[in-house]
Amino acid sequence: MNYHTIIIGAGLGGLTAGAKLAKEGKKVLLIEQHIIPGGCATTFKRKDYTLEVGLHEMDGLHEKDLKTKIFRDLGVFDKVEFLKVPEFYRFVNERYDIVIPHNPDKAIKILIKHFPDEENGIKAYFHQVINARQVIKESAGEKERTVGEFLDSIIENNDLKLVLLGNLGYFHDDPYSLSLSYYSVAQGSYYTGGGNFIKGGSQELSNYLAAFIENNGGKVILKHLVTEIITDNNKAIGVIYRKKKGKQEKVFAGNIIANAAIPNVANLLLPWKHGEKLRQQFKNMKPGASLLTVYFGFKKSLKEIGNKYYSTFIYDSSVKTQADIFENNKSNFTKRSFTFVDYSQIDSGLAPEGKSVGAVCCVDYTSNWENLEKIEYLKKKNEVAQIFINRLEKLIPGFTKAIEYYETATSKTVEQFTLNPEGAVYGFAQTPLRATSDKIKTMENLYFSSAWAKLGGGFSGAIYNGYLCAFEILRKRK
Ligand SMILES: Cc1cc2nc3c(=O)[nH]c(=O)nc-3n(C[C@H](O)[C@H](O)[C@H](O)COP(=O)(O)OP(=O)(O)OC[C@H]3O[C@@H](n4cnc5c(N)ncnc54)[C@H](O)[C@@H]3O)c2cc1C
Repeated sequence: MNYHTIIIGAGLGGLTAGAKLAKEGKKVLLIEQHIIPGGCATTFKRKDYTLEVGLHEMDGLHEKDLKTKIFRDLGVFDKVEFLKVPEFYRFVNERYDIVIPHNPDKAIKILIKHFPDEENGIKAYFHQVINARQVIKESAGEKERTVGEFLDSIIENNDLKLVLLGNLGYFHDDPYSLSLSYYSVAQGSYYTGGGNFIKGGSQELSNYLAAFIENNGGKVILKHLVTEIITDNNKAIGVIYRKKKGKQEKVFAGNIIANAAIPNVANLLLPWKHGEKLRQQFKNMKPGASLLTVYFGFKKSLKEIGNKYYSTFIYDSSVKTQADIFENNKSNFTKRSFTFVDYSQIDSGLAPEGKSVGAVCCVDYTSNWENLEKIEYLKKKNEVAQIFINRLEKLIPGFTKAIEYYETATSKTVEQFTLNPEGAVYGFAQTPLRATSDKIKTMENLYFSSAWAKLGGGFSGAIYNGYLCAFEILRKRK
């Protein structure tokens, strides 16, 4: 059977593109290698806990946010419940313990209270992120700066820069190579729209979109890996896919959308010259950072033992300036800065009444886990979990005793389940070069809709890329 569009991968980018095309009456086939849809936007069950793979908070969902329009268009709000995250984050280092609200006016006030000599710098920072799109327009043609360069140009106090960079891990691993434009738009959206969690976990959104595709005449095939994109005369015309160890199948379509990572698409494209043409376009780009997570199931709500905040970012004492951040991300786990998310601060729907779930998360690299035998890998994962448990016990006394279950997932785990090179969770690193590079395109009817595409990663980036990709196809057909 021929399809209008075949989508490779059921991450948020693939699901959103598929849902929009199916809604517009196009015959969609989505092929996903994992046993569930969602990619990073998934959950898994352990004991009576639902463990959220990735989502801490999704920015925006205010009236002007494109996601609000997309979710309305796809009927998401009728079936999926979004919960507001109470505050942006708590930042803790050896000198400061500050809670940053999402509301920018309140955030400015609190920061000025702690750093009265930096009032001008604080206001300049918020002007940049709140009016990001306007500022970017006004500075068109100028050399793109990094976040680190920008902060150095407006603020003297090193601790203030660290506080503002508390959630840097939401985007990248180093302020001195992160595009200021990319950061400003995304960070600004957290300040203008707040943070959102999905009740019951991000699987609810992924399952909804997969069902939406099927309810609108499309087909979602799980547990099948796409092994080749079939080309003919410089056009993508179909894919070859198979179940693990199963026989190969061929299927054809007028359009192919890759939700799979762009570097992997280059390997799927045969003959070799097509893959090479694509490779040339991203030869100066690198996969962005990955993340390590320790998932926890707690016998009680952590509110009961005195934790008051949803996200706490803990910066190690060795991080004195923003120039130390990158090195710290490569350091031993006893020193690596991390965040702890306490889902019990909202009614997350992830644990039975009286119990709760949480997660430690830090930047991670597959190089931390190379050349280990399975037993050594498991041992190291457990050691890393113990390190973070001990560090958290100091911050939240009683933490250890509250734990009923824990499990560590590394950058290797992300790589295994999503096939993203180096376990990158946000696609290509968002350097100034990436932010200003043109759209990657290899053949007329092969599209990219994932964190690796033009608008970058995170829930928002993947969803925007998916929706815009569907639009591009729909416009072309008209
Ligand atoms: C631990 C963690 C925490 C995070 N926290 C946040 C957060 O708080 N806020 C936020 O906004 N973002 C967060 N993110 C990032 C966000 O989840 C991702 O950027 C986004 O979901 C990526 O979506 P995607 O569409 O690129 O697809 P991915 O999630 O990368 O999924 C790609 C899918 O394609 C499938 N696939 C790949 N190749 C093939 C093939 N050949 N055949 C068939 N299927 C294939 C994979 O199996 C996978 O399902 C987090 C991610 C992680 C891992």
